[in-house]
Amino acid sequence: MHGIPVSGGIAIGHAHLVSHAKLEVAHYVVPQQQIAEESARFAAALETVRADLEELRSQIPPSAPREFESFLNLHLMILDDATLSKAPRQIIETEHCNAEWALKVQMDALLGQFDQIEDAYLNERKADVIQVVERLLKALLGHPGYVPPPAMGGGERLILVARDLSPADVIQFRQHQLASFITDLGGATSHTAIVARSLNIPSIVALHHARQLIRENELLIVDGTQGMVVVDPDPQALAEYKLRQHQWELERQKLKRLRDTRATTLDQVEIELQANIELPDDVEQVREYGATGIGLFRTEFLFLNRDGLPDEDEQFEAYRRVVREMDGLPVTVRTYDLGADKHINGNEPTGANPALGLRAIRLSLTEPQMFLAQLCAMLRASHYGKLKILIPMLMSVSELNQTLNYIAQARQNLEDRHIAYDRGVEIGGMIEIPAAALALNTFVSKLDFLSIGTNDLIQYTLALDRTDDTVSHLYDPLHPAVLNLISHIIRSANKAGKPIALCGEMAGDVQLTRLLLGFGLRQFSMHPSRLLEVKQQVLQSSLREAAPQASKMLRTDDPDKLRAMLARLNA
Ligand code: PEP
Ligand code: MG
Repeated sequence: MHGIPVSGGIAIGHAHLVSHAKLEVAHYVVPQQQIAEESARFAAALETVRADLEELRSQIPPSAPREFESFLNLHLMILDDATLSKAPRQIIETEHCNAEWALKVQMDALLGQFDQIEDAYLNERKADVIQVVERLLKALLGHPGYVPPPAMGGGERLILVARDLSPADVIQFRQHQLASFITDLGGATSHTAIVARSLNIPSIVALHHARQLIRENELLIVDGTQGMVVVDPDPQALAEYKLRQHQWELERQKLKRLRDTRATTLDQVEIELQANIELPDDVEQVREYGATGIGLFRTEFLFLNRDGLPDEDEQFEAYRRVVREMDGLPVTVRTYDLGADKHINGNEPTGANPALGLRAIRLSLTEPQMFLAQLCAMLRASHYGKLKILIPMLMSVSELNQTLNYIAQARQNLEDRHIAYDRGVEIGGMIEIPAAALALNTFVSKLDFLSIGTNDLIQYTLALDRTDDTVSHLYDPLHPAVLNLISHIIRSANKAGKPIALCGEMAGDVQLTRLLLGFGLRQFSMHPSRLLEVKQQVLQSSLREAAPQASKMLRTDDPDKLRAMLARLNA
């Protein structure tokens, strides 16, 4: 099977099927001695949902529509019907499977029966059955996201096979030692893929049929570099991939020697290679790969997979920890980029196009309390090292002005509380909306630095949903519009004397390092595991040679010629 490679390396292990999609649940075998417990778990979920529904019914406000009560009665009836309340327990006992799976099997059977009925009213009740099952699943899982199977020890040989996973699901995998993970959906620069990269294990997205074709516990080889999965390999293939796996490891070890080497080009220009992180724990990797700072801390990950929001103190502790551990090196903390594919529990976006909706700074500006709490936390942490604030998804000067106003309020708040902070804290903007790139002159004087978010810049320039695998083959960082925008941003920033970095996935792609150097980029921020390979490329690059070739590429429209020119540049 072929998909989009997300994170390199080779994994050999056994398949474990999971999914976060509400009605797609994990299937695993429950040992005989735990069957009674599993059945009790199901009974407890049933009770929780019944109690929830009854409580809702007892608290119906007088203003609620009359149908509300009948709707709750209907859901209680569905819940108590033997097909959902008793049959799953029998399935658990006879099939030795987990409760979620038993429930899913029963739901499918029930929905199948509905399909036979030619009655529009009854047919519409399918949605009610699904809603009741969703409630039950939620009660079983505790939350709608991924739950690892109970005995996930030995996970280092486990390959997760999923239809789709949210970034919130993937971040939870960090608690487990997995060999690899592969999904049917997803694009190369989706946040799911980005977080997958941070797990540092081979992974692939957009396989399309993995969930259908792979069975639980089947032996798999995942080649994360080629984006290829081999199912049930023969001994010869297995031996060959074991050898490749070994070679890959040797390469990685060799690269580690570059950790403390400065990233200077052949013409002695020093290049800043920084790291992107999602959570404070990632700093360990940042140090391991010798990054000279953190160019992007995606703070929204502190807000995921939890009930309630992290308050100012909790955020302050998280930011201070990172700043302290980086020991004086710069830490660029981005204000939360929630919305689109990353949302707080229970706050799923409602618009049809969440990537074009209330996301990032747009959301922050509608949530002053939450935004101010974060800004205060960041400013407080700035006292303990070199912290910079980065604003995601800027589109207009008015948004920037409002943001700067909130930052001023946060500063005043700290002054009033007599809390120390770095008064010279720098404020930067992410340039990731084409409008912002084209109208950069209107922003640049108000900002201390800029960072190009190519993942979104490409998504919005090419009108390609970065999470949608059906269009991921069209994703093209070499599109002339993209190259011209990037070069324009770098030139404008250099002209205005503002430091400019690039923190999208392009920064970690060694095929593009020389091109970006040629455009005048001197600061890159990428996933830590990409850093040494990029450093190796910088060490072998000459700016004098790269610059004229890069500008020639800007004037070339023919995709084939462009690719040939890139190959020459990298030769
Ligand atoms: C980007 O858009 O390139 C970026 C770095 O931000 P994110 O991937 O978090 O949207
Ligand atoms: Mg972005």
